[in-house]
Amino acid sequence: MARIADEEVGRLKREVPLEALVAASGVELKKAGADLVGCCPFHDDREPSLVVSPAKNLWHCLGACQAGGSTIDWVMRSQGVSFRHAVELLRAGQGGSPVTGPSPARSTENILAYCA
Ligand SMILES: [Zn+2]
Repeated sequence: MARIADEEVGRLKREVPLEALVAASGVELKKAGADLVGCCPFHDDREPSLVVSPAKNLWHCLGACQAGGSTIDWVMRSQGVSFRHAVELLRAGQGGSPVTGPSPARSTENILAYCA
């Protein structure tokens, strides 16, 4: 398998709107100054601790996860896929899908209701 070119990785990180990916994952984002905040789908979030910075196209969980990163990190984490698979999904315009990763503490049907 050919190596994924650094330029392509950089392009996907810059040009795929993270905000849209996060929204497509089922996270409702609200404006907070220059950033957007929402409920982190990766831990049992009681208050919005997921911060998305559209200007930088980066996200960060200020809660239990202490995780964050680029569009690629988001797809890897939200869909439970490898770096290569995440790049392929983003390249195909399929990066934004509901969170499918394992979530032992929570069933999927209340994913939008747990954090008002
Ligand atoms: Zn989190």
